[in-house]
Amino acid sequence: MSEILENIKDRNPGEPEFHQAAEEVIDAIKPVLDKNPKYRKHKIIERMLEPERVVSFRVTWMDDNGEIQINRGYRVQMNSAIGPYKGGLRFHPSVYPGILKFLAFEQIFKNALTGLPMGGGKGGSDFNPKGKSDAEVMRFCQNFFIEMTRHIGHRVDVPAGDIGVGAREIGYMFGTHKRLTNEFTGVLTGKGVGWGGSLMRTEATGYGLIYFAQNMLEHKDDSMEDKVCLISGSGNVAQHAIEKILHMGGKPVTASDSSGYIYDEEGITQEKLDFIKDLKNNKRGRIKEYVDEYSSAEYHENKDDEEFNPLWDIKADCAFPCATQNEVNLKDAENMVKNGVKLIGEGANMPLIKDAIDHVLENDVLYSPGKASNAGGVATSGIEMMQNYLGSYFTSEEVDNRLKNIMKDIHENCLSAAEEYGHKDNYMIGANISGFIKVADAMIAQGVI
Ligand code: GLU
Repeated sequence: MSEILENIKDRNPGEPEFHQAAEEVIDAIKPVLDKNPKYRKHKIIERMLEPERVVSFRVTWMDDNGEIQINRGYRVQMNSAIGPYKGGLRFHPSVYPGILKFLAFEQIFKNALTGLPMGGGKGGSDFNPKGKSDAEVMRFCQNFFIEMTRHIGHRVDVPAGDIGVGAREIGYMFGTHKRLTNEFTGVLTGKGVGWGGSLMRTEATGYGLIYFAQNMLEHKDDSMEDKVCLISGSGNVAQHAIEKILHMGGKPVTASDSSGYIYDEEGITQEKLDFIKDLKNNKRGRIKEYVDEYSSAEYHENKDDEEFNPLWDIKADCAFPCATQNEVNLKDAENMVKNGVKLIGEGANMPLIKDAIDHVLENDVLYSPGKASNAGGVATSGIEMMQNYLGSYFTSEEVDNRLKNIMKDIHENCLSAAEEYGHKDNYMIGANISGFIKVADAMIAQGVI
């Protein structure tokens, strides 16, 4: 097996995030390959790790000062064995092929776990939306989509949002695609509810994460009631995780952005959450402004030389990293264990480094990987696609019920796959095995392509 990983490292130099995502899956599925030699014979994991197609292009646009700006745009079409490529677009200065390949690879398994017909893809740009005017964001999105349009389609590849891409950006991109193709199709998800979007899509990732956590707790005869919860991030996923924790009687106490975090010992209430939503979604402000409004909270600014994030060193029952990849290191994981954290649910994609995962699992913390616990977002994107194909809309209640059921099914499938291969209650192994088998069998059925 290490041969496969060595080969991946040689073929994809300088892409540590992709190697990390590959290593987790390769390790987790080893017992499946040992038991079923057909997967080795058909070189399934090797094929899954080679994108079906990678598109890279120049995006040129003009800023508000009339200066020409140049960015890079990408789409990684990783795997289409069980449906059209599906996955978000990320706009962040850290975006490069290694990040997108890790995300697209994760997306294969996540999308398979939802039980819906969606392959894996991811895309984006190194464009930094921070501090840009609305007009600049629109011009960037339009120029980005002039090229992206030729590579996607509602039966081909259906992008959505991710970090730096929300309702505003999806609107500008959808408008550009419609103008270029003269067609109104569900080529993107996360659209506005008045023009093809699904009710509950905005809430889905965060709500789904907490539904999944509730399933994990119920499995141990426990519940979310009165649980003190640490949350990182303050974007879409974090906001709706906080909201669902409140619905379930838990107590969220933190939120963060790239500058620092707030800790509100008295708890973030719905009213305080509404303030965060307005601050982040409308005013595009910074999380530190929370403490000007609510004196019960303290603000901690990030420092460059910090070896660990003090956000994860607060006494709590549950932790939900909802910011970005590799935000929880080994020291953070040690702090969580020391402070009595009993459950970690990943809202972001791959927020725990490998050593951190190993440490929490060794200490019997209930841990769910993002590809399982944050799958509610893309699952609801699948439900949005379904509504677009039907030319109809479902009610909020209908979508929410489907979301709850999907999260419950993922939870059960993870547990049963893990148990079958001798790793009781290991959601990381269960998620990888369950997603892998579904896609692997489809690949074998479709021949050597
Ligand atoms: N970016 C989200 C994810 O990581 C959503 C993708 C989608 O809805 O296509 O799963």
